[in-house]
Amino acid sequence: MDQAKFQEAFNALREEYRQNLTAKIQQLYDIWNQVDADKWNADEFVTFTRLAHSLAGSGATYGFGSVSQAARSLEVFAKQLNPEAPPNHFEHAQLATLLAQLQESALTATRTSVNEIHERKAPAAPEPSSPTRRVTLYMPPSASSRDIEMQLGYFGYDVKLCEALPECDELVESKPLAIVLDWDFAQAKFSAAQLARLNELGKCTPRLPRLFLATASDLSARLQAARHGATAYLVKPLMMTLLTETLNAQTSQHGDDPYRILIVDDDASLAAYYATALQSAGMQTRVVLNPLDVMPPMDEFRPDLILTDLYMPHVNGLELAAVLRQQEAYVSIPIVFLSGETDVDKRLSAMLLGGDDYLLKPIEATHLISSVSSRVRRARILRALAERDSLTGLLNHTRFKEQLGIEVARAVRYNGELSFIMLDIDHFKMVNDSYGHPTGDRIIKSLARLLQQRLRKTDILGRYGGEEFGVILPETNGSDAWGVMEEIRVAFGQIRQQSDGVDFHVTVSGGIATVPPATDAAMLNELSDRALYRAKRSGRNQIVYAME
Ligand code: GH3
Ligand code: MG
Ligand code: MG
Repeated sequence: MDQAKFQEAFNALREEYRQNLTAKIQQLYDIWNQVDADKWNADEFVTFTRLAHSLAGSGATYGFGSVSQAARSLEVFAKQLNPEAPPNHFEHAQLATLLAQLQESALTATRTSVNEIHERKAPAAPEPSSPTRRVTLYMPPSASSRDIEMQLGYFGYDVKLCEALPECDELVESKPLAIVLDWDFAQAKFSAAQLARLNELGKCTPRLPRLFLATASDLSARLQAARHGATAYLVKPLMMTLLTETLNAQTSQHGDDPYRILIVDDDASLAAYYATALQSAGMQTRVVLNPLDVMPPMDEFRPDLILTDLYMPHVNGLELAAVLRQQEAYVSIPIVFLSGETDVDKRLSAMLLGGDDYLLKPIEATHLISSVSSRVRRARILRALAERDSLTGLLNHTRFKEQLGIEVARAVRYNGELSFIMLDIDHFKMVNDSYGHPTGDRIIKSLARLLQQRLRKTDILGRYGGEEFGVILPETNGSDAWGVMEEIRVAFGQIRQQSDGVDFHVTVSGGIATVPPATDAAMLNELSDRALYRAKRSGRNQIVYAME
């Protein structure tokens, strides 16, 4: 969502809030009129307090600070009264005054048009990630540029060759994932002013990776490059695997897997506000208004973080956290409580119960975004350490098998299809023996990267063992799976592997099994293992589909 769209959505929410404000005040008065008529009802009074609490937590969010303040005063006063007994004369008078003040500030707010309200700045939306994986290459056309183009192509990069800076200016608009630059060529061809522009480019999009290729390897040459914005410096003759690896590493954070936030709040308007703000920063959100409905999205949506209101009817945020934490699968998911200033005691017990954190209501969009994203980032790192293989970043054996079980059960339950592929690098022992273990490791990584880039986000990849990989393609039949894996097999065979200046190629074999006919993970394993064995036996470098 871009800046203007967010502002628009935000304005619409604020307008809706403004219109609802009158109704909420009316609701408070309806209850109050009963108190006035000596018709005391404890339950009604609890609702009264909760309405005040909700207004206190939401008003300022939409720029109605005075509404928040007045509602807060009313809430604080009402809360320390005994709900079981009608208020005494003094309490009655005090409540009436506070309620009148709230109504006054609400009236002022509703009279103010959207334009008159202090314009709240929407947070800056991050650059949308480009749909194509474009890399701009500054280099004269040559055998070498064609080679880079082709090799990067295997990893799914679309290389655009540029020779002149003016053309490359348009590049800011085309939003490339990265720049690869022949630094020798650039220094010879471009003026100092033009080179300086290169650095400017780095300043306006600080995260754009810039890989410089150069002959000189001394420190002063590297320093010179760094001053022109180089984020990586690769010495010629260029080692292609190093180029792809650097590029993969430096571009990997480009919005591949958006943060998923589950919002639990009984106030639909506030929940929509949080969702809009988080979406404007590229996150995905799911809203649950009733905490009792939280379980289905836990499995389907698989949130990275839960943002929950602390004070809700029926089930409060703390109870919700306790229930979630009872389940093994959700032990490590961060839960952030949103609480009003008056919840101090509860806030403390929230911390004690292992609730991860709390944010104070009302909260500004920018603050919400930065708090949530830093917590998700941290949680993802921790989870990756526990679940991922350190060499490739793919799921480790244990976690992959667990996921296979889940996916197979899902496919069987819904009468769906699923393909499972076991891959094994050919003659890998020989590769290790001839070129050394570190080269072997690099080859394992190149296959992992290739799989990550060629497959869908919903596909699941795991490192099964040493040079073996597991791939789960949900909702994919055997023949489609075969087509996809064939493409990957061919591309992998074309990657030019290098070791000490020697070029060579490595191939991979694979076995595919599917649901149906398989009905459980053990059967899938068995079938794909047999298919892989047949691929090896019939000469390797092929993908074989399991037969009954
Ligand atoms: P095949 O074509 O039949 O699969 O032959 P292969 O040599 O690939 O099969 P084998 O299972 O005999 O050998 C696998 C080799 O992979 C042996 C082991 O040293 C190597 N290996 C396993 N894990 C790693 C790793 O993490 N890094 C490196 N470099 N080598 C590994
Ligand atoms: Mg093996
Ligand atoms: Mg092997």
